[in-house]
Amino acid sequence: MKIIQPTFQVFPDLSGESALRKVERIARTCYKSEDKIEPDSAKKIVRALIRGQHFAMLEHVSLSVQFITQRSFTHELVRHRLCAFAQESQRYCAYEGEKFGGEVVFVAPSLLPEDSPAYRQWAQACAAAEQAYFALRAQGVKPEVAREVLPNSVKTEIWVTANLREWRHILALRALGTTGKPDPRMLELMPGLLKELQRVYPVFFDDLNA
Ligand SMILES: Cc1cc2nc3c(=O)[nH]c(=O)nc-3n(C[C@H](O)[C@H](O)[C@H](O)COP(=O)(O)OP(=O)(O)OC[C@H]3O[C@@H](n4cnc5c(N)ncnc54)[C@H](O)[C@@H]3O)c2cc1C
Repeated sequence: MKIIQPTFQVFPDLSGESALRKVERIARTCYKSEDKIEPDSAKKIVRALIRGQHFAMLEHVSLSVQFITQRSFTHELVRHRLCAFAQESQRYCAYEGEKFGGEVVFVAPSLLPEDSPAYRQWAQACAAAEQAYFALRAQGVKPEVAREVLPNSVKTEIWVTANLREWRHILALRALGTTGKPDPRMLELMPGLLKELQRVYPVFFDDLNA
């Protein structure tokens, strides 16, 4: 059994500058103001689009983000409907295999201090789940059935692709808590993702602040 911390990464296929230029070029069609495109005009018009809530223009750019996290995180994430998903399948992955190091990976619960009795209780439960999983597999039970004994803390990987309007929506809910306090697992990754997107894609996320 292995215990890891959750992480994310943004697929590096689009620079912030390209995203700004693309949205500017497309949005200026609305006003037939393509002649106003200048080296530093993109930030200005995108800022104006966001201020004017002309968010439809942001739908022309999509970003992909990978989360390596626990199943309880992704269970919430996949409720967002305007996304494309690709997730590690517990039906097809057999964790006793060499490819998986012959062990099940779990994500540490951030709210339990590592030296606390509660953390030890959690770790014992994960170890017991792993043992039960391997025992079922040893009897020939398929991964798609054996997975029933795995808990919410089991590690999963998911790629999420969504347009910038949807990412703004997801981050407002999951990092800033605009509709209520986000789940603690969301608060482990989403504020960091918001910061990273603010760094890599200037303007598009600048107004999203706690
Ligand atoms: C703090 C918090 C607590 C939550 N608690 C619970 C809970 O206790 N139980 C539970 O079941 N869920 C819960 N959820 C999940 C929540 O109900 C939503 O399913 C989830 O947040 C997705 O939000 P969404 O529908 O706005 O966004 P998305 O699915 O990402 O859609 C984005 C936007 O597109 C539009 N849209 C998408 N689909 C439609 C449609 N069919 N018709 C019209 N407009 C559409 C809406 O404007 C929507 O806001 C919780 C979410 C949060 C953030």
